[in-house]
Amino acid sequence: MQKNNLGYPRIGARRELKKACEQYWAGKTSREELLSVAEELRRQNWTVQQEAGIDLVPCNDFSFYDQVLDMTLSLGAIPKRYTPVLTENKENTELDLYFAMARGYQKNGLDITAMEMTKWFDTNYHYIVPEFYKDQSFRRFSSRITQQFTEARKVLDKTPKPVLIGPVSYLLLGKEKEEGFHRIELLKKLLPVYVDILNELRDLGAEWIQLDEPFLSLDLTEEEKNACKEAYATIAEACKGLKIMVTTYFEALGDNTALAVSLPVSALHVDLVRAPQQLDTILETIPENLILSLGVVDGRNIWKNDYNKSLQLLRKAIAKLGVENVMIATSCSLLHTPYDLEAETGIDPEIRNWLAFAKQKLGETVDLYEILNGNAAPLEANQKALADRRASSRIHKKEIKERVAGISGKDTSRHVGFALRQKIQKERFGLPLYPTTTIGSFPQTTDIRRLRARLKKGELTQAEYESRIEEATIEAIRIQESIGLDVLVHGEFERNDMVEYFGELLEGFIFTKNGWVQSYGSRCVKPPIIYGDVSRPEDMTVRWSRFSQEHTGKIVKGMLTGPVTILQWSFVRDDQPRQETTFQIALAIRDEVLALEKAGIQMIQIDEPAIREGLPLRKKDWPAYLDWAIRAFRIAASGVKDETQIHTHMCYSEFNDIIEHIAAMDADVITIETSRSQMELLEAFADFKYPNEIGPGVYDIHSPRVPTVEEMVVLLEKASDLLPAENIWVNPDCGLKTRKWEETEAALVNMVQAAKKIRKKV
Ligand code: GLN
Ligand code: ZN
Repeated sequence: MQKNNLGYPRIGARRELKKACEQYWAGKTSREELLSVAEELRRQNWTVQQEAGIDLVPCNDFSFYDQVLDMTLSLGAIPKRYTPVLTENKENTELDLYFAMARGYQKNGLDITAMEMTKWFDTNYHYIVPEFYKDQSFRRFSSRITQQFTEARKVLDKTPKPVLIGPVSYLLLGKEKEEGFHRIELLKKLLPVYVDILNELRDLGAEWIQLDEPFLSLDLTEEEKNACKEAYATIAEACKGLKIMVTTYFEALGDNTALAVSLPVSALHVDLVRAPQQLDTILETIPENLILSLGVVDGRNIWKNDYNKSLQLLRKAIAKLGVENVMIATSCSLLHTPYDLEAETGIDPEIRNWLAFAKQKLGETVDLYEILNGNAAPLEANQKALADRRASSRIHKKEIKERVAGISGKDTSRHVGFALRQKIQKERFGLPLYPTTTIGSFPQTTDIRRLRARLKKGELTQAEYESRIEEATIEAIRIQESIGLDVLVHGEFERNDMVEYFGELLEGFIFTKNGWVQSYGSRCVKPPIIYGDVSRPEDMTVRWSRFSQEHTGKIVKGMLTGPVTILQWSFVRDDQPRQETTFQIALAIRDEVLALEKAGIQMIQIDEPAIREGLPLRKKDWPAYLDWAIRAFRIAASGVKDETQIHTHMCYSEFNDIIEHIAAMDADVITIETSRSQMELLEAFADFKYPNEIGPGVYDIHSPRVPTVEEMVVLLEKASDLLPAENIWVNPDCGLKTRKWEETEAALVNMVQAAKKIRKKV
């Protein structure tokens, strides 16, 4: 019975790779220095896994930026616009080409845009989307895969297991950049390159190869299913002597079960953390010679494994298939968990005893093997920790559970319908047509971030810190007034991050010091951990909203993060359904909304940028999710009076297929990101005859470029063709925290001009 790990985090326990990459990009260090940091990280990772007792240790799971981009490079699917990176500058290497694809290239008179980035299934990891063209060709390009195999061999006693994205998933992860073909049709051209790589690995001594095919647990068309058959038949035929393991994760195989178990491969990996119920069906259909890798150790969360649960699944599989046909495995790559719990000396020891990070998860995989082989010790300790967690008074709060159970219809609707609210609010606020506003944050300058660092170090007292934040807030109010914006914001200077800020003030959350998880490239996030019932011991934002409102005659919007977004961007409890936790957060936000209203705040924005990314991977599960996600928003938003205006904000969203649910949120105003799509995203709202007010973003905040008045007028004209003028707001795409003041002011001055022009036209 082999112990199988699917992948390991690669940023380094202290984010060494982030620092090394950023230094290299800034031109401060040499390529050799960067390569040596990376080599050392790989060596450490392999050693840790070997010492833990893992048999199938992955290689090629390391990446300087993203594993999909690595695959793109290895398969030579390099978009033509990057050719000059190597031809125009002879000093540039393959690594520079790679980073150019990831980040764009603006040097030596060249200005080449980066490849697009999108979310990796339902995680917060982002990958670089492969670009496909009609005449797409593939060829061996980088020798990275084979090099890393050879390198791993020197470190490990056992033969390393190269990990590659499987050919079908690789194609499906990409995007057609022109019309007239579907990317899955490229399979025939792609397969020879895979065969070539695999055979070279075999010749170098590889035994097991892991081919990730997460799409096997998603909805597939007939063509895509056939592509799977064709791909693995070809590989089986052309790569004799290799043991191929196809891995699936993040969902159940579902209607693809028959297809998956019939592939001519040596092993199939399934995620039994996300979908333990699928084991029975798989065991019924699996052929005799196929090894089943049981993903029982959670690669997506930070909780200690429940050994009894995992052992039940393992024993069931062993009884049916025999030990030699079973592997014990992590559910997916451990990329999505932080490195090492041992580094977290600050966490309360009681809660710490409930957790496991990547390194501890290796230990869990081995523990399960030990227990199955007769060593009961790890089981006892594990069951004790789990029993302690279940019984802990830190987790369960009777009042909170009762309050959630008591939520009724009247808590989830405003008193009167939107039409009447709109009338009442228009009278109350007396705003011009096309009112102007912003999304919430203003530039988080180094000075502001330094204030927080100094507060943490004790170099500033709380009072000193707050008075400096007050100064920044007043300054931002003055600037907004002089620009002539209609509805102001306080600027969010007191917030490090839109989720962390609330997590720190809510009960039921803890924070790690080093629990970094890669988000994209060198960017890492440190998600809060929700461990217990959530409550709000005191006001969270009232002080700052009231303070700013007192400093201006204009209206200042209150600014909150919504329950679904707080949930999505945290590590969540595994001991109760996600919606239960979301409703608890929703009640806390509802109380904050009411406290703001009571303090005289007349407009309150509840940001929900993560609603769409929370959508389940299988379409059949969408309605249930949307039902509770929208309900959570309504719980948070519905307590206020008719004249209080509720705003919400969402970015990077497509709304077509969820528009009725967006409408069901019943926010008085929704602001959305639309400028990059030239207002195309508004069509869904127009077709649906969306009744409430909308602020379609009129400029992209991801770039320092200052938009012209004219281009924003054009966008507003487009919006006016689609929606009634009295429903349209004017605002940027998203918050301005990543921008500099200079460009922010210039852009907003133009935006206000554009609003004035469009007002004259209607
Ligand atoms: N209010 C937040 C801000 O302006 C919203 C950020 C977001 O949507 N991601 O920064
Ligand atoms: Zn946004």
